[in-house]
Amino acid sequence: MIKKILIANRGEIAVRIMRACREMGIQSVAVYSEADKDALFAKFADEAYHIGPAPAVLSYLKMEKLIEVAKECGADGIHPGYGFLAENPKFAQICEDEGIKFVGPSSRVLSLLGDKVAARREMIRAGVPVVPGTDECVTNFKQAESIAKETGYPVIIKPSGGGGGIGMTIVWNKAELAKALESTQAIAATTFGIADVYIEKYLTNPRHIEFQLLGDSHGNAIHVGERECSIQRRHQKLIEESPSPAVSAKLRKEIGEKAANAARMVGYEGAGTMEFLYSGGKLYFMEVNARVQVEHPVTEMVTGVDIVKEGIRIASGLPLSITQNDVKIQGSAIECRINAEDPFQDFVPTPGKIRSYNAPGGLGIRVDSGVYSGYTIPPFYDPMIAKLIVWGRDRSETISRMRRALYEYVITGMKTNIPFHLAVMENPRYVKGELGTHFIEAETTLLDDMRSIIEREISLEEKLPRMSDEKKRVAAIAAVAAVTQVRYQ
Ligand code: ADP
Repeated sequence: MIKKILIANRGEIAVRIMRACREMGIQSVAVYSEADKDALFAKFADEAYHIGPAPAVLSYLKMEKLIEVAKECGADGIHPGYGFLAENPKFAQICEDEGIKFVGPSSRVLSLLGDKVAARREMIRAGVPVVPGTDECVTNFKQAESIAKETGYPVIIKPSGGGGGIGMTIVWNKAELAKALESTQAIAATTFGIADVYIEKYLTNPRHIEFQLLGDSHGNAIHVGERECSIQRRHQKLIEESPSPAVSAKLRKEIGEKAANAARMVGYEGAGTMEFLYSGGKLYFMEVNARVQVEHPVTEMVTGVDIVKEGIRIASGLPLSITQNDVKIQGSAIECRINAEDPFQDFVPTPGKIRSYNAPGGLGIRVDSGVYSGYTIPPFYDPMIAKLIVWGRDRSETISRMRRALYEYVITGMKTNIPFHLAVMENPRYVKGELGTHFIEAETTLLDDMRSIIEREISLEEKLPRMSDEKKRVAAIAAVAAVTQVRYQ
């Protein structure tokens, strides 16, 4: 087993990985930027090292620096988390060369799957259904035109080396094609370093459904069920759940087994996700995310499988601790991403100091966060401050419990997107499970719903003494003191 892991990441995922390390008796090492010196993850670790200034290119993305720290402190493993260097084949290669275990797939597999066109080809070979489109890069207009004609408009042009929804362009008709091709190629070149793009049929309002996979170095690969992540804003997921209300046991078994087979075929080692779009009762492969995902806890809640621990076991050369038959889905879990964003102002980021913080608790509640009361959220990174994950015996119980937990969640000092989540949890279509990737645009009343929820319900926040309001706080302490005195006099 790996003995000491350097976590090349920050925020809640760094804490999540450190929790697994602690349970497994593995030493954890944090690396932090100047902006993160007071962050929870830097305190949580057994050791912590400052690696540079706030911009990620000068700290979290500095491969040589990370390797240098790992060697100096004697770490025999590096966990990349998600984002930053998680899917970077060059970084995995350096770790391999230096004899440090990279917790994730090999550099060879990362290169293969990072090239989305190559990944599509590989999946077709493995018998996984893919979104109709090209199995080669598109380099010129003529090629693009003939593919678009074949699949029919609308189509979507995507950077082959892309991620985060960046540069994707929807094309509704032939007249828009040339310009869209040019702009996607330009964005691909500047953002991802390669101008390669590919074309897929654009499915209107599909559901986003993905399968959690685990593969080890002994040739075992299993799926741990699916997650639905259709509630998105600008292609960024906001609410995820498992199981998907749209997936039957039969479809889960069919696609899950195909996905696990494909993972076995490419020699996938570690935790990974195969993303699909669901339309007209069918699932179509989109891409593989070769890393642990933000939304992995919903799978953990319904299966009891600790995905991060399995990943660490796999990197240590051990076989999976479970077989496909051990995977049983129980109940339903939903995750709300709690972001420092103002949902009333077009979700503008609102980093700042958390004045007071009260996380929800009780049966079926899990909070994965990297913050604490008095912590100042730096403006340099992702605005996600916590993930609220709720489990219930069925979807309806989970939704009621999520509403209760959101009511209980108090974060003062900055605006958060909690009112947005409350509005979605009360939305009749959401409650019925009628989801799609255009849900937020289609539900035009969400903004008004947020307002009426705030007006209707005196939030717990109003009832608690506010740390921000020093006078009130002093008065509250004085009031308690007065009562105590009365009682004991
Ligand atoms: P990235 O890796 O950049 O995040 P993805 O390929 O995972 O991009 O796509 C992100 C989101 O974009 C999907 O969840 C879906 O909402 C939308 N999308 C991508 N491809 C298609 C498509 N062919 N048809 C419809 N929507 C799509």
